[in-house]
Amino acid sequence: MTHTSSTETLLLEIALPVPLRRCFDYLPPADTNLTELQPGVLVRVPFGRQELIGVLIKVKTESEQNLDKLRPALAIIDPRPALDNELLDLCLWAADYYQCAPGEALQTALPVLLRQGEPAQLRGEPVFRLTTEGKGLPDGALKRSPKQAALLAALQTHHQLSRNDLELFEIPRTIAKNLIDKGLVRIDEIVPSQAPHPALLLREPSLVLSEEQQAAFAQITYDSFKTYLLDGATGSGKTEIYLQAIEETLKKGKQALVLVPEIGLTPQTLQRFQRRFNLPIVALHSGLNDRERLDAWLQARDGIARIIIGTRSALFTPLKEPGILIIDEEHDGSFKQQDGFRYSARDLAAVRAHRLGIPLILGSATPSLETLHNAIQGRYHYLRLKARAGNARPPEIQLLDVRGEILHEGFAQASIDAIGDTLGKGNQVLVFLNRRGYAPTLECHDCGWLANCNHCDARMTVHQTPRHLHCHHCDHQRGIPKRCPNCNSSRIQPIGQGTERSEVVLQQLFPAHKVIRVDRDSTRNKDGMQKLLADVHSSEPCILVGTQMLAKGHHFADVTLVVIIDADAGLFSTDFRGAERMGQLLLQVAGRAGREEKHGRVMLQSHHTDHPLVQTLVQQGYHALADLILHERQITQLPPYRHLALIRAESKQAIAAVDFLQTARKMAEQLQAPHPLFSYLGPLPAMMEKRGDRFRYQLQINSAQRKPLQQLLSELALQLEASPLAKRVRWSIDVDPQEMG
Ligand code: ADP
Ligand code: ZN
Ligand code: ZN
Repeated sequence: MTHTSSTETLLLEIALPVPLRRCFDYLPPADTNLTELQPGVLVRVPFGRQELIGVLIKVKTESEQNLDKLRPALAIIDPRPALDNELLDLCLWAADYYQCAPGEALQTALPVLLRQGEPAQLRGEPVFRLTTEGKGLPDGALKRSPKQAALLAALQTHHQLSRNDLELFEIPRTIAKNLIDKGLVRIDEIVPSQAPHPALLLREPSLVLSEEQQAAFAQITYDSFKTYLLDGATGSGKTEIYLQAIEETLKKGKQALVLVPEIGLTPQTLQRFQRRFNLPIVALHSGLNDRERLDAWLQARDGIARIIIGTRSALFTPLKEPGILIIDEEHDGSFKQQDGFRYSARDLAAVRAHRLGIPLILGSATPSLETLHNAIQGRYHYLRLKARAGNARPPEIQLLDVRGEILHEGFAQASIDAIGDTLGKGNQVLVFLNRRGYAPTLECHDCGWLANCNHCDARMTVHQTPRHLHCHHCDHQRGIPKRCPNCNSSRIQPIGQGTERSEVVLQQLFPAHKVIRVDRDSTRNKDGMQKLLADVHSSEPCILVGTQMLAKGHHFADVTLVVIIDADAGLFSTDFRGAERMGQLLLQVAGRAGREEKHGRVMLQSHHTDHPLVQTLVQQGYHALADLILHERQITQLPPYRHLALIRAESKQAIAAVDFLQTARKMAEQLQAPHPLFSYLGPLPAMMEKRGDRFRYQLQINSAQRKPLQQLLSELALQLEASPLAKRVRWSIDVDPQEMG
């Protein structure tokens, strides 16, 4: 029933950060000028006994709620909308599509400080400038301190430098402080504003594109929506095309938004952009504090920042003059959020670009099958780079059959020889093993006891630095027992290989060389990765050993050998994307070898060298593998040929989760009568049935068409939300799920 307010009182419809799939109505706060109130404004409201900050969706006269019960909002935080219509609509569309509460989706788009009621106002930023004395200094005055002289020279050319600029010029802040102490430099606080465009857009000239790059680049148009798949091997020059497409965009007075995987956002990437462009660039990554994040966001909104580089949630950055969206490594799993608002930044980028009428470039050496399928079908414009840029040749992949071989702590003799050989020639080696810790588990040699996690269906990983057992699924940790808890034998030993163990082994085998381990444990500290990689970039012969953190985005010019310890991990996965991911990961790792003049070689250790997927990948490459998997997906009716949604439920008692999903299935079958284009699978236990003491189940819904699935899910979500069974479980809907576990 709708209630119309009698005297045409205006009501505020507000999205609140609560997990309910609806908005809430409020009376306007006292003495508010309603005519000026625009959607996107933040409003403080009472909610139960708390106060929340929500987003105004619209001003209206009718309510589904009883008018007498409506409470007045407390305050309008800022009459200027925090979200413009474009972003507001995108978030609401996405909330609808991903079956998420509108308030939760909007949360993702708003910087934390705005959600807490901070004004959306840019603050002053310190800049370094020369004092009158500094300006009057004769040439060569600071001869004895080259770094101080360098800063002085930079200030003479650029008039002022921000903290970022200092980093770019590699001038330590202490040098600036020295000059301040000498009275030559002062710090001014300036509020950034949109500067007129400099006459020179570029700091350094762009490269002359190869014929192939030019052919791809020439097809990009800037004044309308089109999605491009830029498909080219690692090192084929995709980034150079992004840079030149951005240049075109900047020339038109527009902004560029670039998304990269979390791990790929290294200073290397950022510096490459900063070296090229003479316009303000902001980077939105996990290393920023809340204030820095808000500043970057505001600079994008106000058009001060012309290039915005960020990870997944940067998709929701407001842009004053949007011109192009670019997603690098579009296949990367990090673009899909795995909890709460389960959106895909890649897929939403297409929606956003479409609504803005601007181009979207998806780049990858190993495109996701969804994207590849869209390109093959002609929905995306397919741009392909086959050669490597510059002089680099593609690496040779050599398959090592390790069946029946005596492995030295996981390494085949041929691998060890190749590593020694490479180091001997003064080159670097990358050893890839996608398992952190010392060993996957601990085993009793006498009774077969294994170190299981008490809270999960999983084994505990052995770690040596510091020594402990660690469950990577629920984070449970305990000491390493001296004796078997089952038979009291002292013969308990770590089983299998992890990165820590490989590091130890390699260091024993090659004591004269540095072994650098890169995984989540070794890079935990801020700047951890940069510090570790500093050695690698110094070009000394060394061995890098690490997990997939090494696979993405880095450029190791002196690595000429990549050894992959276990190529088989994804082959027998119960997730239908296992093989696709395996192919992507192996090729991304392989792509680290021989990026410049040096020729690269990849050795792949496998127990399944004759498996058709392995054979296809090694002999014919990723695209042949992709064809093979696509064919399988078509036969088995899986994405990209079908659309999936996963309803997950977990609870302390398995029965509650199963009951909930059985009810969900019944409800769904009533909403959508049996139909050949619709199918259900489940409730079934998740791949890891118990995790963190909760039992996990799932129901898979598979549809040939997106629209009926969407309609079904919208109704189903509301019914489930209202169901009493829902109170006994944690449940969620995942639309276009990426992880099936
Ligand atoms: P990708 O992004 O596909 O990995 P990049 O754009 O990073 O490739 O290019 C790989 C290397 O080749 C980089 O060092 C880059 O500077 C260089 N490069 C790219 N395009 C050209 C070109 N047209 N001429 C010369 N060098 C190039
Ligand atoms: Zn035992
Ligand atoms: Zn556990």
